[in-house]
Amino acid sequence: MSEEKLEIIPLGGVGVFGMNMLALRYGGETIIIDAGMGFPEEDAPGVDIVIPDFTFIDQYRDEISAIVLTHGHEDHIGAVPFLLKEVNVPVYGTHLTLAFLEGKFEEHGLVDSASIHAIEPRDRLTLGNFEVEWMHVTHSLTSCTAVAVTTPVGVIIHSGDFKIDETPVVGPSTDLQRLTEYGDRGVLALLADSTNAERPGRTQSERAVAPALEKVFEEAPGRIVLSCFTSSVHRLQIVFDLARDYGRRVVLLGRSMLRNVEIADSLRQLDIPDGIFVTPAEARQIDEDQLLLLAAGCQGDPMSAMTKLATDQHKNLFVAEGDTVVLSARQIPGNEPAISRLISHCYKRGAKVIDSSVDRVHVSGHGSQEDLKILIEATRPKFLVPVHGEHRQLYRHRDWATTQGIVDPRNVIVFENGDVLELSETSAEITATEPVGRTFIDSSYEHIEDLVVRDRKHLSYDGIVVAIVAINPTSGALESEPEMVTRGFIHEEDSADMLSELRRLVEETVTTATHEEQIDYAVIKEKIRLALKRYIQKSIGRRPMIIPVVVEV
Ligand SMILES: [Zn+2]
Repeated sequence: MSEEKLEIIPLGGVGVFGMNMLALRYGGETIIIDAGMGFPEEDAPGVDIVIPDFTFIDQYRDEISAIVLTHGHEDHIGAVPFLLKEVNVPVYGTHLTLAFLEGKFEEHGLVDSASIHAIEPRDRLTLGNFEVEWMHVTHSLTSCTAVAVTTPVGVIIHSGDFKIDETPVVGPSTDLQRLTEYGDRGVLALLADSTNAERPGRTQSERAVAPALEKVFEEAPGRIVLSCFTSSVHRLQIVFDLARDYGRRVVLLGRSMLRNVEIADSLRQLDIPDGIFVTPAEARQIDEDQLLLLAAGCQGDPMSAMTKLATDQHKNLFVAEGDTVVLSARQIPGNEPAISRLISHCYKRGAKVIDSSVDRVHVSGHGSQEDLKILIEATRPKFLVPVHGEHRQLYRHRDWATTQGIVDPRNVIVFENGDVLELSETSAEITATEPVGRTFIDSSYEHIEDLVVRDRKHLSYDGIVVAIVAINPTSGALESEPEMVTRGFIHEEDSADMLSELRRLVEETVTTATHEEQIDYAVIKEKIRLALKRYIQKSIGRRPMIIPVVVEV
């Protein structure tokens, strides 16, 4: 019997969407499973993405030995470059996962320093106290895996993102055989994807979108403009096959679309019909009913190819009357307004728009309740630990599993980011918490302090008031009338009375202050700020950012 205990610590992805990251610790050694990015939950001006807070990483940097990746989606690999800048440890993942990562390494200047190691499903690797085996699972992307980590305390299975797709378009089905073998030998804990734990039944196969897409090819009178996630390899294969069958040439639009199709093709994840691609310039010579534009930007990102097509910003091409626009993707929470604008643009330009509210042009990549049940029944874990999902999905996962009688209700553990779940061969309990959170990242990959984002939010709500006063450093007297500059606060021309009142208030504050206060600029600035703050709040109920500036004359 092992003396030491195993610790499982989620550093992201539990209770929130995205930012999946988890630490496994045993005997002074730690491996990290996935390091993903997410989007800010709150309004955060100038913030591009969020990544997990790395305080834990900093604290245990000497014992971290590897990063183990399940698959290549952004919410699982997007924080890896940032993590490697903290701890440069080897990274393990499938070829496709690593190929997606390599593009990021170029942008982050990590190509020479990063140590990456490609694995194949069913490869086993000893990483210190842990023996890791990757097992193929089906998802919306290809080359996805679950991992089994054999530790001195027992076997931990992490599902990654998965569904049980028996008829995937590309690659094999979920490796239930190996998962069952682990179940036969005994699994201590299963950490399983909860994204679709609220959905009854089974999630449909990636193939299930083919009929609706075929209908589009059959009926579209003019061009087809299709947008999906550029990593949705199954979806891309269906589209390429239909384009070949219906005699349409394909224009790839958007950097990530071009890059990801090239990567998937080079790793033989895609079987691309010969001569199917044409350039945007060549496309202008081709009849509209023989064209398919395949564009990045299904989430309505304003800088994406899809939005450019819909708003006439593309050099050669634009959405026009008679086009059929297909949005073959889910709406990521938070992106709904942007997608809605995109759809409106397309309609206004005379196109017909088909998304999953119209026909089945999208299926989820995550397992529903019956898929979860299949995984639990294969692995038969002692403890079930729901991961990947908001709280309500984690609790539904627990409720579903327990009402099915496939797990002892006392053995389902819903934990929070930062909770230290300590496992022995017979017990599981949360014994401590580690610091967790999120770090804001801007478009140039720099960290932005929370305080900066808070200031930006403050400015965006109530604007700014700058009061400029010239004070004689010896006498403390005002040398001229105070000046007021405002932005995003009031319309200055229409609010002359308000401004002159603010000026008068500043003047009064300075002249009624003691001599010592007048010549101590820090003190007089704070007095001016408080006087303006009280007056503005009382008179119009607003809280602009107030910046007093004292000029020495
Ligand atoms: Zn995924």
